[in-house]
Formats: sequence, structure tokens, C-alpha cells
Amino acid sequence: MPADKSISHYFCHKQAIPITSSPSILDSPIEYLKGVGPLKADLLKKELGIFTFGDLLEHFPNRHVDKTTINTIADISAHTDFVQVAGIIEDVAIMGEKRSKRLVAQLRDRTGSLELCWFQGIQWVEKNIHPGKLYLVFGKTGFFNGRPQITHPEIEPWSPAMAEGKSFLEPVYPTTEKLKAKGLNGKQIGKLTMTLMEMISPKEIQETLPQSLISTLKLTGRFNAYCTIHFPKTVEEYEQALYRLKFDEFFISQVRLGLTRLSRHKHSRGVVFEKVGEYFNTFYRQHLPFELTGAQKRVLKEIRADTGRGKQMNRLLQGDVGSGKTIVALLTMLLAADNGFQSCLMAPTEILANQHFLGLSDLLKDMPVKIGLLTGSTKAKERRRILHELSEGSLHMITGTHALIEDPVQFKNLGLSIIDEQHRFGVAQRAKLWAKAVIHPHVLVMTATPIPRTLAMTAYGDLDYSVMDELPPGRQPVTTVHRNEMHRVRVMDFIRSEIEKGRQAYIIFPLIEESEKLDYENLMDGYEHVKAFFPEPKYWISMLHGRQTADIKETNMQRFVKGDTQIMVSTTVIEVGVNVPNASIMVIENAEKFGLSQLHQLRGRVGRGSEKSYCILLTSKLNNDARERIKTMCATNDGFKIAEKDLELRGPGDIEGTRQSGALNFKLANLVADKEILEKAKREAENLLSVDEELSSPENVLLKNYLLMQKGKTVWSKIS
Ligand code: ADP
Ligand code: MG
Repeated sequence: MPADKSISHYFCHKQAIPITSSPSILDSPIEYLKGVGPLKADLLKKELGIFTFGDLLEHFPNRHVDKTTINTIADISAHTDFVQVAGIIEDVAIMGEKRSKRLVAQLRDRTGSLELCWFQGIQWVEKNIHPGKLYLVFGKTGFFNGRPQITHPEIEPWSPAMAEGKSFLEPVYPTTEKLKAKGLNGKQIGKLTMTLMEMISPKEIQETLPQSLISTLKLTGRFNAYCTIHFPKTVEEYEQALYRLKFDEFFISQVRLGLTRLSRHKHSRGVVFEKVGEYFNTFYRQHLPFELTGAQKRVLKEIRADTGRGKQMNRLLQGDVGSGKTIVALLTMLLAADNGFQSCLMAPTEILANQHFLGLSDLLKDMPVKIGLLTGSTKAKERRRILHELSEGSLHMITGTHALIEDPVQFKNLGLSIIDEQHRFGVAQRAKLWAKAVIHPHVLVMTATPIPRTLAMTAYGDLDYSVMDELPPGRQPVTTVHRNEMHRVRVMDFIRSEIEKGRQAYIIFPLIEESEKLDYENLMDGYEHVKAFFPEPKYWISMLHGRQTADIKETNMQRFVKGDTQIMVSTTVIEVGVNVPNASIMVIENAEKFGLSQLHQLRGRVGRGSEKSYCILLTSKLNNDARERIKTMCATNDGFKIAEKDLELRGPGDIEGTRQSGALNFKLANLVADKEILEKAKREAENLLSVDEELSSPENVLLKNYLLMQKGKTVWSKIS
């Protein structure tokens, strides 16, 4: 990827401070730690990914227990979550056979008794737990036959003297059943960590942050934070350590992203759109069908600044459905034309590409601008003409599908590539686009998929980012309701009454790849059903699904666009971009099967005209998550709020397209819960780079060295 130099490259042209890279004790293989034999080492590697001392250091406890707080068995109720109880073990017995084989023991204190139960690691427990002795037990309680029970408790010998000691927060580490069976439970891992901490000094965990930042933010020192997060004396101390380490994770990743951005700005040459000329001005003054929104104007300014400065633009434009991204794309393409460059607008589906072509052709009908269309189903003769016109330069702009990046397509001078509705457009594909011009064209990626701010700042942090957070005036918010499938008849009656008023309706069926056949049958059933509800000859119904050929899809779509059919029964192929302003009802069947952002996208197909629009979510029974999604949809139309909720429900790892993103490998920090820390880290990283982008001041040398040392680690490779 020529435009994104790695960070080491970035520093290369200035003499970097020599790094003292004496081998650190933290790089030692885990089997060298006292108490870890080859067997345990093997398991630690396989089960927890702990290969070195350093990995163990970063295997953080998920909680701490205070040995002096002991619950009584009588106090355990159905509402109790975790308990720590001390008592005598009685009646150890193996019960059941094969898969229900388990070891059961009773723990008795002066208030009652509790059942302990193990399904795994039975041998180890049998060998190490002795009836008649005192034990301290920790675990999550449940009730079985009306009696309190703990399955797979943590257990260790105990004596009353231990409870009299000073309050001590003992770390408990995440572990696995296999490790537990080999005697490495959450507390025993803590013993290894203790051994490790006794071996390391501040030399091994050097400070990375500049002193001024540490004092302004009142942060704990780095070495101290690592010690304390494992073995805190007080809860406050622990919280401070946690804050410091979370801040580090965000801050380091923000500095890296910032450096990547700077490096791209520095090293990438971009074509220069130096003037706003005839094409843009004429269109803007005479043919623009409406006044631009403030957000559209702002984004155009950002694009104009980007494309005029001689650097390659790499911008993500996020605008909710219907916010008017297409016109921004067109104006940018006209800007390219004014400067003698061709541009392309790429869409994810043929339907959308066609629609762009028709829409843009219409807007440009009185302009001396030539626009073409290239998709997989463009006929050979037409294709030859288009390819010819692209290469000799008589075509100013082209819209199309992925067909545009296929090999034979050669531009005379491509200066701008716009990618619609595809923020997941991969690096490899972008590279293909770049190969089509000597100097990399500017890239504008447009998406209506709401991206929560925290993700925009991390997963997409290497792109410049614009938001259109304003809808064109006069839109009425879509009213969203949830109905049980049982009331489908009433929903159909409602559709009928709206159609009588001249409106159109979408009815969407889910499409899940694993059971494509079933979905297809579902859709057909649905179609027959809808037909049965609307038997009169005046009603026409279109259908759209993935098994149709492009021609048929196009015809069916066009009939609906023109208003020849009143109802569109479709799978989610309709999802992106399609614009039929007269359609005012969106019914989503099996709405519980859709993710939040998909529901929001679908809803965005209505509410595009001046008429009041409705979205009706039909479901049967709901689980908790689905209920939460449906509730969110009914409560808000705000794409950003929906995105936040989505992130909260699914976690960042699950948000499409971000799974592989190294920028999200945070061990402690959480994108939802720690949003404020992220904002702060971002601000501080930007401040720092704005005054010292080479990280060359003595204060920043530690940080720079740290970044360079980390080079070999996985996260690094994802970012460069
Ligand atoms: P999206 O951002 O979802 O791609 P579109 O570009 O398709 O949105 O625009 C949605 C609709 O809003 C279109 O019919 C478009 O003509 C209209 N539109 C866009 N900008 C404005 C504006 N500033 N004022 C009024 N209507 C607008
Ligand atoms: Mg669009």
C-alpha cells in the first residue's frame, strides 16, 4: 500500500534516537517462570495465549476478592450472585455416570450447609479436597432442589487466622476448565503473577507518556499501574491503575492512527483540484434542484480543502439515510471535471448503480457533461464503447458496480473515486482503483451505516472523517411501530388504506445466507399471501430477490419506481440506497432476525418524500436482545443513537467489518463504557502530534521508542 507508510518509515527521514533494545525479561518464555513446568506452560499457551512473562503481566485479573469478607450460608438467597464462604467440607461423593458424572461435596458453616459440585477436574478435586478440613470457597450461587449450590467453585484451604489479617485484595484471573483441572484456577494464576512481579523492576516497565501529560491528567506512573492492577491495596488505588492502563491503550492507538494519517498526508501525492470552474458553478447556480443543507455545504468545504492541497484525499463520509450524499458526490465529480479529471462512482449493486446513473443523468441533462454506466450486465457492444470513451477521456464520469475496477477498464486520467454505501470497501480493492491512475485518485467513501463515534475514532481512525448530521428540510420523521404477526390482517388493511391515498409500500422478508432455500420459500409464501390480501385487479405487486437475473430485477424495480406497482415484496436486496419518494410504508417481516443497523437502513427507504411514513416491525416471540432492538427502533430515528445501541448490544468485535481491525484489540478498555477516556486520549494525542509530529522533543522520546519497539507486534502490522 504505497500511500500508507508504516510508522517506522515515517520517522526514518529524520535521525531516530537509537533504541536501547537489550532483551527484556518480559520477553522470556513462560516456561522459565518458577512454578510453570512444561505441561502448565503448554496449557497457558494454548488456553490463554500466554507465551511470555509479558503476556502474563498483561493477563489482567477480572476481579479482586477481599479475604476478610466472608458470607454466611444462611444469608444466601435467590438474589445472591457471588459469595465467599468458609466452612468444613463433608460428604465428598461421586455421583451419576458418563456425562452426568459429577463430584458433590457439602460445605458446612455454623449457619447451614451448601452443595458444591464439579463436572470437570473431578480427579484433581478428589485428591486435593479433604473432608473434615476448613476451606474458603468462592463462586456463583444457584439453587438446586431448594438448596443453595455452587458449581465449579474456587476452593482453597482456610484458617480463621486468615480472616483476621489486614484487608487484602486478592486478584482472581480469567482461566479455563482445562487449566483449573491442572491446578491453575483464577487464584493460582495470581501466585504466578506474584512470582513475576517480584522479578521485575521499573526498568522493565518504563514510562511511555510525557511527564507533562502525566501531571496534567494526574495519572499513576506506568510501572506502578502494572503492579497495582494486579495487587492493589485499596479499591481507589485499583481504579487509578485501571484508568491509567485504559488511557494508555487508547492513547497509544490514537497516536499511531494520527501518525498514519500524518504520514499519508506527507508522503502521498494527490492530484490537485485547484479551481472551482464552469461545470461546478453552472450546475450550482442553474441546475441544483434545492438549497444545500448546512451539513452538505460543510462537507463540500472539507472535500474542497482536501482535494486542493496536493495530497491524496481518503475520506469517509457518513450521512444517515436520506441525508443527501448523492448530490455531494455529484458536486465533487463536477469539481474533478473542472480540473480536467475523470471520476467514478461505484455502487454495491446493479440496482443502485442504475439508479445513480438515471438520477445523475437527469440532474445533468442540461449540462455538457458526459456520464456513463458500467455494470456486469452491460452488453458487449455498449461496454466496448464505454471502455473506449473512458480511455480516450471523452467520458467525464462513470457510475457502476465492481465492474469498474476490473482489469480492462482504463481511464485517461482518473482523479476521483467515490464508493457508495460500502465502508467495508477493502484495502485491496482500493489498491486496484489506485492502479488505474499514475497518481492515486482521491477517494471518498460514503456510507449510511451509522458508525458510532467511538468506532469512527478507532476502527476507521486512519481515514479523515466527515459527518452529515442534518436531513434536508421538510422531512417528516417516520413513525415506527411493533406488531405481533397475529395482527397481520390489520397491517394489510392499513397498507390498503394508504395505497388508496396513492402511496406505495415495501414488504421485506429476511434473507439469511445459511438457509437461502428456506428464505426463498418464505418469500414466495409471503408473496402469495400478499396477493391473496390484494386480489383486485387494480393492485399490482412487484417482487425482488437475489435469484432473479439483473434484467428482471431492474424491470421489477423500475415498475415500482414509476408507480406502476403499489407493493414491493422483497428480500433485503432492496436495502441500500434505493430511492422511491412515494413509498411511505415499510413492513418488515420477522423483524427480530435483523440487526439494528440493517433495520435502520431498511426504514430509510421510506420517509423520503413529503408524505407521512410508517415502518411496521412484525415479529413473533422475542428474546431479550431482539426486544431491545425493536424497542430502540420504535423509540428513535437517529442513526447515531441506533449505532451506539448496536455497539452496546453486540460489542465492537461483532460490528461488521471491524472484526479484523487491529485498532480494536483493547485488553482493558471498552469502547462503550470507556468512551470518555477515549475522547480524552484522542484529544491529548492530537495535541501532542500538533506540536511535535516527529516526537522528537526530549519529553516524547520515551513514547517514540515505545512505538518503534512495538513494531514487530501484531497490532502494528494492522496499522501500517
Ligand atoms: P442518501 O444520503 O441516503 O444517499 P440521497 O442522496 O439519495 O440520500 O438523497 C435523498 C433525497 O433527498 C433525494 O431525493 C435527494 O434529491 C433529496 N435531497 C438531497 N439533498 C437535499 C436538499 N439539500 N434539500 C432537499 N432535498 C434534498
Ligand atoms: Mg445514497
